[in-house]
Amino acid sequence: MAVRHRRVRCAAVDLAGLQDVIERTYGARDRARGVPSTVAWLAEELGELAQAVRKGTPDQQRHEFADVLAWVASLANQMGVDLDDAIQRYAEGCPRCHAIPCACP
Ligand SMILES: [Zn+2]
Repeated sequence: MAVRHRRVRCAAVDLAGLQDVIERTYGARDRARGVPSTVAWLAEELGELAQAVRKGTPDQQRHEFADVLAWVASLANQMGVDLDDAIQRYAEGCPRCHAIPCACP
């Protein structure tokens, strides 16, 4: 059981893998609902994450992090955004001051 879990985890370990598995799993259904509906689900999941951070168990928090990431991936897929590409904004540290750690006032 634990080994099976680890395998699934490895398949989605990077952002491209996450976008791929979410596309194959929910792509058609999420696309049919559309972007506004996906944004609404993402907002709802963010609310659940906020609640889990305040009063959830570590298991519940991990669950909500996963749901938020999944909806971000679904939204990016529908909008043709490559998350690996998008996150390059932070590859060199802070996008404003370009320092690690951030040196902005
Ligand atoms: Zn900065």
